[in-house]
Amino acid sequence: MPAPQEGNDLNYQAISLHSPFTYEGLPTRVLFGAGTRSAVREEALRLGMSRVLVLSGPAHQAFALQLVSALGDLYAGIYDGARMHTPVDVTEQALALLRELRADGILAIGGGSTTGLGKALALRTDLPQIVLPTTYAGSEMTPILGETQAGLKTTVRSLKVLPETVIYDVDLTMDLPAGLSGVSGMNAVAHAVEALYAREANPIVTALALESIGSLAHALPAVCANPRDTVARAGALYGAWLAGICLGSVGMALHHKLCHTLGGTFDLPHAQTHAVVLPHALAYNAPAIPEVMARLCAVLGADDAPLALYELNTAIGAPKGLRELGMPEDGIDRCVALATANPYWNPQPLDRMRLRALLARAYAGAAPSIDPI
Ligand code: NAD
Repeated sequence: MPAPQEGNDLNYQAISLHSPFTYEGLPTRVLFGAGTRSAVREEALRLGMSRVLVLSGPAHQAFALQLVSALGDLYAGIYDGARMHTPVDVTEQALALLRELRADGILAIGGGSTTGLGKALALRTDLPQIVLPTTYAGSEMTPILGETQAGLKTTVRSLKVLPETVIYDVDLTMDLPAGLSGVSGMNAVAHAVEALYAREANPIVTALALESIGSLAHALPAVCANPRDTVARAGALYGAWLAGICLGSVGMALHHKLCHTLGGTFDLPHAQTHAVVLPHALAYNAPAIPEVMARLCAVLGADDAPLALYELNTAIGAPKGLRELGMPEDGIDRCVALATANPYWNPQPLDRMRLRALLARAYAGAAPSIDPI
C-alpha cells in the first residue's frame, strides 16, 4: 500500500511509482436504486435467458412472486430451499430441478445463502445469473463460492460463479430486521477493512473500501434506529456493494480466517460472528498497519479505530461477545489451534498467545485491545 506523503491530509491517496500495483476489474453489470427490480425481465432477455429458475428464501416470498410475474413467459420454476453455508446436498436437489425444468438462467433473490446456491448452480452449469440481494453480505459481487459437505467447508474461486447482473433494489432491504441489518452491515465493513491491508491491496480497492466503510458507518446506526429510513437504507446497500467488490478483488486475512473457523467449528451465525470479531482482529493487526489505521480513523472520525468499530457494534445492538452467540469457552483454544494450523497472509505475524487473548476478549464481549495479553 503506498504510504501517505508528507502534506497529504488523507483526503486522497498519494500514488508512488515506487509501488506499482495490479488491479483487475470484475465484469458484473449493476443496477442500483429503488424499484429497480422492475427491470428483471429486460435483464433476463439481455442475458439471453428464456427459461428462468428463481431461487428465493422464506423471507422474500412476496417479492419473489412479483419477480415471477414480471418474468412472465420467461419463468420456468422456483426453488426455495437455500441454506446457510451452501450444503452440497441442497445444491444437488436444486440442480435436479434446474435440469428437469431445462432452465437456461438463474435468478436469485435473498441473502448470502440464496446467492450462494445460485453460484453453486452456475459453477456446475455455467448458466448466467441475475442476483437481487436482500442483505449486506456482499457475496453477489465476488467470484468466490464456499460450499459445505460432510461438515467440511471448501472454497472455490471462478469467474463462472460471478453473477452477470446484480440488481440492488433498496425496497428489498426495507424489511430486513434492525438487528440483522446491523450485523449484516458489519459483515460488509469487515470485507472493506481487511481489503485495506490485504497482500494485494491497491489504491483502487482502497478508495472503494474507504467509501464503503464511511457509508456503512454513517448509515447503519440510522437503519437500526429506523429500519424504514430509505436514505439510510440506500447508504447501507451502497456501502455493502462496494465492500463486496473489495472482497472479490483482494484476499482477506486474520479476521475472515477466524470467522470462517468459528462459523465452521461451532456453527455460529455468520454476520453476528463477523460483527463481534472485527474490532478485535483490527486491534491485533493495528501495530503492523499504521497508514491503514490513520485512514480508518479519518473515515470513522475517531482516534481509535478498533474502539470506534466496537462502539458501532453497540450502536447497532450487535451481540456483545462470542459467548452470547453460543460458543463454548473451551472453543477458544480449539479456534487458536485451527486458525494457526495452516499459514496464510496477515500483516501481523500470528502469535498463539496474542490470538488466544484476542479470542478471550471477543468471547467475553470486552473492548478490543492493541496489547490484549
Ligand atoms: P442469509 O442469506 O442466511 O440470511 C440471513 C437471514 O435473514 C435468513 O433467515 C434470511 O431468510 C433472512 N433475510 C434475508 N434477507 C431478508 C430481508 N430482506 N428481510 C427479512 N429477512 C431476510 O445470511 P447472509 O448473512 O446474507 O449470508 C451469509 C451466507 O453468505 C453465508 O453462508 C456466507 O458464507 C455467505 N457469504 C459468501 C460470500 C462469498 O463471497 N462467497 C460473501 C459473504 C457471505
